[in-house]
Amino acid sequence: MSNTISRRQLFLQHVAQTSPAPMGLEAGHAEGIYIYDTNGKRYIDLIAGVAVSNVGHCHPEVVAAVREQAARYMHLMVYGEYIQSPQTAYAQALASILPPPLDCVYFVNSGSEANEGALKLAKRYTGRTETVAFKNAYHGSTQGVLSVIGDELFRNAFRPLLPDVRQGTFNSFDDLRHITHRTAAVLIEPVQGEAGVVTPQAGYLQALRERCNQTGALLVFDEVQTGFGRTGSWFAATHYGVTPDIMTLAKAMGGGMPLGAFVAPREIMAALQSRPALGHITTFGGHPVSCAAALAALNVLRDENLPAAVAEKAALFRRLLVHETIKEIRGEGLMLAVELGDAQRLQRVVSGLWNEGIITEWFLFCPTAFRIAPPLIITEEEIRKICAVLIEILDKY
Ligand code: PMP
Repeated sequence: MSNTISRRQLFLQHVAQTSPAPMGLEAGHAEGIYIYDTNGKRYIDLIAGVAVSNVGHCHPEVVAAVREQAARYMHLMVYGEYIQSPQTAYAQALASILPPPLDCVYFVNSGSEANEGALKLAKRYTGRTETVAFKNAYHGSTQGVLSVIGDELFRNAFRPLLPDVRQGTFNSFDDLRHITHRTAAVLIEPVQGEAGVVTPQAGYLQALRERCNQTGALLVFDEVQTGFGRTGSWFAATHYGVTPDIMTLAKAMGGGMPLGAFVAPREIMAALQSRPALGHITTFGGHPVSCAAALAALNVLRDENLPAAVAEKAALFRRLLVHETIKEIRGEGLMLAVELGDAQRLQRVVSGLWNEGIITEWFLFCPTAFRIAPPLIITEEEIRKICAVLIEILDKY
């Protein structure tokens, strides 16, 4: 009917947009590494919904856990009061894969919230106020973490922001001097994601750990993108052998459901229990359906040994992606940035790939590279097919 408003129009009219040109794929269903639009066109999700679908879309184990828990109970009470078995079972499972002494989990709903909680905890525990963070870092969009992200364009638009933030350069050993006895928290992505996947230099995270030990600052790893096998180990902390005082998690955690957390040793986490009690609360944090999904996703990662298979899959991408216009491929495990060194061409390549049914995009703070961060279940055969198309598109544009 001519007067019927199309779903696209409804989307543009009633769903708030965050960019002037939204991608506008109309989702039909999703399975494994694939998203199907409502016309049945199949897309390969080469970015896993931005580091979320590590076990693939709609993994049957995750779907079953969601169904089962939704039928048993959903929300009952604000966070932390009732004993809910999906939360306790998942917190225990998480503690078993985290490096000790990280064993106490505060559940929230997103990465931004996880970082907010971690920064508040560090302030309370140390009695200090300063946060040290890094250029080109991304930690979320709420005002607290917006104050510590490493991009002036984003920060400047929303001033005034939190005071007492110092900024260092990622990988600069010299800048470790910014961390002092005034510093409550050093917040860092062990592999910077939105900067365009920048990995830590040998010894850098160890030096950071050492400096925090000397000054009594708490080291906070934002593992929102790197967590749950993406780098080839359970966490970047385990990959690089450096344990933070607080770790923040989200994205892949819930297996596709919204869930985040900040994790610390119980002794540090106890600072949130008093003076004031209820100083950090959340209604939906640790939603039982999300926790049930998260436990199922963790079991899939473990039972299918997915983190351990990442290195070989990443190596295959790197071996097959040889092209004269690729300046470099940065990254760790299946968190890769293909650098073309030219933002305009990058856009053409990304739209060319979209037309061929391959979903990728650039990075918030790096418009010259595109992402390769597929679900970790991707197979060798799929990687070979994808790389053949990638090379074809790089030839064409
Ligand atoms: N930290 C990092 C490293 C991230 O990549 C993101 C999201 N891109 C966030 C925090 C924020 O997570 P959320 O969007 O769930 O608030």
